[in-house]
Amino acid sequence: MITDSNSAVPREFDHRPHSSNSADQPVLEVDKVTRLYPSEPPVTALQEVSFTVAKGELVGIVGPSGSGKTTLLHLMGTLDRPSSGTVRITGLDVQQLSDRELSALRATRIGFVFQQFFLAEHQSILDNVADGLLYAGVPQAERRDRARDALGLVGLEARPNARPNQLSGGQRQRVAIARALVGTPAIVLADEPTGNLDQTTGQAILGLFEELHELGATIVVITHDHDIASRMDRRIEMLDGRIVFDGANKSSVRNEANPRSIPRSHELRL
Ligand code: ADP
Ligand code: MG
Repeated sequence: MITDSNSAVPREFDHRPHSSNSADQPVLEVDKVTRLYPSEPPVTALQEVSFTVAKGELVGIVGPSGSGKTTLLHLMGTLDRPSSGTVRITGLDVQQLSDRELSALRATRIGFVFQQFFLAEHQSILDNVADGLLYAGVPQAERRDRARDALGLVGLEARPNARPNQLSGGQRQRVAIARALVGTPAIVLADEPTGNLDQTTGQAILGLFEELHELGATIVVITHDHDIASRMDRRIEMLDGRIVFDGANKSSVRNEANPRSIPRSHELRL
């Protein structure tokens, strides 16, 4: 059973065990993770990869095609299990959870953003975002209320009834980001989130991630683009299934080119 460490219970009233609820505890722990694909010949997609992500971090994971980024995303997102090593999300060991518990963990603690947006074209953007709460057991009226708030976070609150096909690529990705955020996940995992966008729009989406980071969101952005990874506070570089660099970017470019578009009144309850 997964205890909910993301509830809004103030800490002083919260006497549950803090094993999965400590402020110091990393949101994500990847410990000596190896992933072998038993293809012919077998491929070692990841080899003894270790790092942690703390609450509130904005991390870029960068590497060329084939370096293991998507494999790592699947493991971080609990969509796949390591061949050896440990993945923990908010202290919970993925290996020890049943498939059902993993689904619950994904639904409540992890937000995904993909290159291809994956929006339902026939639904309003409000319902697309509200669907992000479908598996979290939230009643429909509340799903819509929270979806409205999440659309506000990405600057699309004025058009809740628009369909995805009436929007630009950048706006579609904003909808996908709102859907990832609506469940106030412990961590957002984005795989090549600007891969289908032109340069300017991509920069604006990165600016949005930076703003969400400033509001307290924990975000990991996977990319093959060094310029993108260099914008993040911290960069992890991968090559041939291993981490070859993990550290602060000397001067992560704070988004002068992208003035704040999110009203400060919006708060992430993370
Ligand atoms: P990236 O996302 O950085 O391009 P991937 O994680 O997709 O890297 O792939 C890492 C390595 O694992 C590559 O050599 C790739 O060919 C291999 N690989 C990925 N998925 C599979 C699979 N399902 N079966 C066999 N090999 C795979
Ligand atoms: Mg990939």
